[in-house]
Amino acid sequence: MREYLKFYIDGAWVDPQGSGTQDLINPANEEVSGRIALGDKFDVDKAVAAARKAFPAWSQSTREDRLELLKAIKAEFEKRQPDLAAAITEEMGAPASLAGGFHTFLGIGHLDAAIVALENYEFEQKHGDTLIRKEPIGVCGLITPWNWPINQVTVKVFPALATGCTMVLKPPQLAAYSAQILAEVLDAAGVPAGVFNMVQGKGSVIGHALSTHPDVDMISFTGSEPVGVQIQKDAADTVKRVCLELGGKSPYIVLDDGSLTEKVAGAVSGTMINSGQTCSAGTRLLVPAARLDDAKQAAAKAANDTSVGDPAGNVAMGPVVSADQFETVQGYIEKGIAEGAELVAGGPGRPEGLDKGYFVKPTVFVGDNTMTIAREEIFGPVLVMIPYYDIDEAVDIANDTPFGLAGYVDGENQEACRAIAKRLRAGAIYVNGGFDFNAPFGGYKRSGNGREWGAEGFEEYLETKAIVGHG
Ligand code: NAP
Ligand code: MG
Repeated sequence: MREYLKFYIDGAWVDPQGSGTQDLINPANEEVSGRIALGDKFDVDKAVAAARKAFPAWSQSTREDRLELLKAIKAEFEKRQPDLAAAITEEMGAPASLAGGFHTFLGIGHLDAAIVALENYEFEQKHGDTLIRKEPIGVCGLITPWNWPINQVTVKVFPALATGCTMVLKPPQLAAYSAQILAEVLDAAGVPAGVFNMVQGKGSVIGHALSTHPDVDMISFTGSEPVGVQIQKDAADTVKRVCLELGGKSPYIVLDDGSLTEKVAGAVSGTMINSGQTCSAGTRLLVPAARLDDAKQAAAKAANDTSVGDPAGNVAMGPVVSADQFETVQGYIEKGIAEGAELVAGGPGRPEGLDKGYFVKPTVFVGDNTMTIAREEIFGPVLVMIPYYDIDEAVDIANDTPFGLAGYVDGENQEACRAIAKRLRAGAIYVNGGFDFNAPFGGYKRSGNGREWGAEGFEEYLETKAIVGHG
C-alpha cells in the first residue's frame, strides 16, 4: 500500500491544510493500492506564495545554472526510472514493458529536448536600436491528465524550469503516484526551494484554485475539452496565458500499395498501445475501398493478436484506467453496434478469462465518418475503419472532424504521403512512423491552442519585452 499524504511546497514535504484523503484503485485487480491527501484552496495559496517568492532569483538565474540543474535532474530521473515505471503500472495499468519503456523514455526525451532548447535559445535579439528580450512569464499552474502521466508532467515541468519560471503542479488523482516520485526526483536533484511545488487533490478544487489565482501568470493544461473550456473561462478574469492541449479523433490514412496490409496491422497495434488512451491515437483508419477486405483481415488479425492481461506480466495491453473509463468505452462499443457499424474484432465485455480488472477487448469496426464512434474521442482500444474512394475523399474525411491534434499518412510513395500531409488540418502529421522530440505538438481546432515539445514548447513559457532606444 502506498501512502502519499504530504505535499511538496517551498522545498519541503509538508502536511496538507485540507483534511481529506482519497483511496486509489489498481485498475488491473480493482483493489485499493494506496491513498493520497486531498488539498484545498489554502494549500494552493501556500504553494503559489512559495513560487512567487522564488521567482525573482530563479528568473535571473543563468543559462548555465539551469543547464546544470537539468543535468542533475536527468541523473536522478534515471536512478528512479524503475520506481516511476512501477508506479505507472500500479496507478493506470500500463504493462511493465511499456511503463519501463516508452512511458519513462518520454520523460527523458522531454528533458533532453529542454536541454537542447536551452542550450541554443537566443534570449536577446537586436532590431535597430531596440533590444527584444525573452523572459520567463512567471508563476505557472500546470494541470495534467493520467493517460501518459510522466510524459504530461515532464513536457511542462522541464521547459518551465529551463526558461526560469516557477510553478505549481496539480497532477491527476488517477496518476498521483508517479507525480509524487517525480517530485522526489526534483527534490533530490536540488531544485531551489519554491521553484517547483506540487499539490495533490481534486481538479475542481486545486485546478480551479490555480486557474482563478491572482498570483498565477499562466496555466498549462492537458486534458479533456470541457475542463479546458472551464479553465479558459476561470482564467479570463485575471488575464492569464492559457495553453490547452485537448483531445483528438485523428485520421490515419493508408495508401493503396503493396504495403497496405502491413501498414493497417501497424496502425491497429499502434492504437491499442496504452489501451488506446492516447490523445493523438489514429482512431479513424482510412483505407482504400477497393482493398477493404484485405484491410479488414489485417486489422482483425492485429487486434486479435494483441495480448491483454495483467500489466505486471508480459502483455501488450493492460486494463483501461478506471471503472468509469471502462463504462464509457463499453458504451461506445454498444453505440457502434447500435448505429450499424460492422464489428470485425473485439466487441462488448471483457476479454475471455479476465473477470476482474477494467480490461477491454481490442475492438475494430468498419463504419462511416458520421457515426458517433467516428465523431467522438473514445479513449479506449477501439478504432473505426472508414473506406475512401480517392485521395481527395480521404482528405475530406480526414478533415471532417471538430478536432485537429494529429494525423498519419502511410504509404510506399513518400512524395504522395508528403502531399497529403500538407492538406491535413492538424498540428502534427506523422508520415510512415516518423517521431521527433524536437517537433512541436499541439492541436488545431478544438484540440487546443498551444504547442508543447521541443523549442516551441519552451517558448510557451516566455514573455516578450522590447527595450526601445536601447542603442
Ligand atoms: P480531465 O478530466 O480533463 O482532467 C485533466 C486534469 O484536469 C486532471 O488533473 C483533473 O483533475 C483536472 N481538472 C478537472 N476538473 C478541473 C477544473 N474544473 N479545473 C481545473 N482542473 C480540473 O482529463 P482526463 O480524463 O484526466 O484525461 C483525458 C483527456 O486528456 C482526453 O480528452 C485526452 O485526449 C486529453 N489529452 C490530451 C493530450 C494532448 O496533448 N492534447 C494529451 C493527453 C491527454 P482530477 O481528475 O484529479 O480531478
Ligand atoms: Mg477525467
